[in-house]
Amino acid sequence: MAGEGQVNIKGQRFRLDAGPLDPECDCYTCRGYTRAYLRHLFIAGEALSMRLLSIHNLRFLVRLGEQAREHVQAGTFHSWSRAWLDRYHAARARP
Ligand SMILES: [Zn+2]
Repeated sequence: MAGEGQVNIKGQRFRLDAGPLDPECDCYTCRGYTRAYLRHLFIAGEALSMRLLSIHNLRFLVRLGEQAREHVQAGTFHSWSRAWLDRYHAARARP
């Protein structure tokens, strides 16, 4: 999410995309696989695509929880969560 928000990996624009799923993510999938390859696996119905995307999604949720905890401790959770949700909804509105 950090890079672009929610990504529909089936999108034609990822057909030749050599970048990671999320450039700001440190997960196994983002460090080792390109968007083009993930798209290929997904379109081909390969089970590996579900495994790799799940690894990323779980890491995303763990990082989100870590960030939320940091902002709760800093007393900035309300403003952080509002900004995060604004970015999330803006990214979902993109075609
Ligand atoms: Zn990732």
